Amino acid sequence: MAARLDALIAGQGLTGSLLAYRMHSLGLEIRIADPGTEGSASRAAAGILSPFTGPRYQAPMRLAALLDEAERTYAELASVTGHRLFRPMPVWRLLQDDGERERIARRHADHPDLIPAQPVPGREAPAGTRAPLGAVPMRGGGHVDLGRLLDGLRGWFRDRGLLIEERLGPGTVALPSGEPARWHGATAQHVIFCEGAGAFTNPWWQSLPWRRSRGETLTLRCERPGDLPQAVVTGGESLVPLGGDRYRLGATYERGDEVGGPTAEAREKLLAALPRLLESPPAVRVEAGHAGLRPGSRPGPPFIGLHPEDPRIGIVNGFGSRGTLLAPWYTRRLADHLASGAPLPREADVRQRTDLQ
Ligand SMILES: Cc1cc2nc3c(=O)[nH]c(=O)nc-3n(C[C@H](O)[C@H](O)[C@H](O)COP(=O)(O)OP(=O)(O)OC[C@H]3O[C@@H](n4cnc5c(N)ncnc54)[C@H](O)[C@@H]3O)c2cc1C
Repeated sequence: MAARLDALIAGQGLTGSLLAYRMHSLGLEIRIADPGTEGSASRAAAGILSPFTGPRYQAPMRLAALLDEAERTYAELASVTGHRLFRPMPVWRLLQDDGERERIARRHADHPDLIPAQPVPGREAPAGTRAPLGAVPMRGGGHVDLGRLLDGLRGWFRDRGLLIEERLGPGTVALPSGEPARWHGATAQHVIFCEGAGAFTNPWWQSLPWRRSRGETLTLRCERPGDLPQAVVTGGESLVPLGGDRYRLGATYERGDEVGGPTAEAREKLLAALPRLLESPPAVRVEAGHAGLRPGSRPGPPFIGLHPEDPRIGIVNGFGSRGTLLAPWYTRRLADHLASGAPLPREADVRQRTDLQ
């Protein structure tokens, strides 16, 4: 590969795919490297895009802009890949304790268009769900088909000669003084690492305050799909309709930075959640188990930008369990920064953040 590039991007998970697509659309010369091995977070993810998460109904900053960018990006990529990638639908939170009512009211005060002031009675929740304490529909979210997105964009990059089916080891990048970075005969103004959990061992980025969490999901085939909810339902674990009799059930959270394969413990734990989510759980067949490491940021905001000691090296990472919502907006910010010098958001920029010094 002899090329003069604006950027080499390491990693074709959700983050690297969106960054590479966006930079290419802005007319920048890029290549994206990924060996395509198993175990990425994006392949393990349930694909839920929700404005609020967990029993605390946590919301990221810039929520309205994030939702808007996500919807526009997935629609644009649907026309690029020829597949519908985002299905907007309410995400129904099934209340697990009465304390949630107060948090719902608080979120409503900030986002009245996304969440009602109070939960509705369980009988108004989607058919088949079990919600004795009530349920609350959260608008603006839905499901992203991450498998299709990754496969579709991988083919799109390959057809354009932009994909390198190899690992881009940080130690194999040469950084001659005052010149662009060099890798495999190519020169690049920037090498941007979108490695997910791979960053935990990247000498440039391993000292960032990572939150390391391992997780698993299951793809299920369910009997009586007609009696099951046709919306995302969540209450501790979550159930996502994939169409027909297929559902995704997730996710477990464990500490750890070894991904390994799917485990019997996680499968048991996830299946045990069905009676909590469903009035009358159907017989199910586990079609596949999926395991991955969530690359999260301990302080909260993700990590993006150029290394304080060498601006040829960059990063986009740390989306934790919210990649579907955060990645479209933050990758666009870095693409715009590299294309035209647009400022990066302060809360995420690894050069400006005082919490990383
Ligand atoms: C079990 C589970 C469930 C989840 N559920 C959801 C959910 O419902 N909704 C949601 O929004 N988020 C969810 N997440 C989180 C979401 O998966 C992540 O936020 C997001 O996918 C991270 O994408 P990424 O591209 O940064 O990392 P990854 O998807 O891990 O991708 C990194 C890629 O880089 C490659 N790579 C690594 N190092 C190199 C290198 N040096 N050179 C080349 N390639 C390299 C890897 O092979 C991989 O393909 C879940 C995560 C897990 C684990």
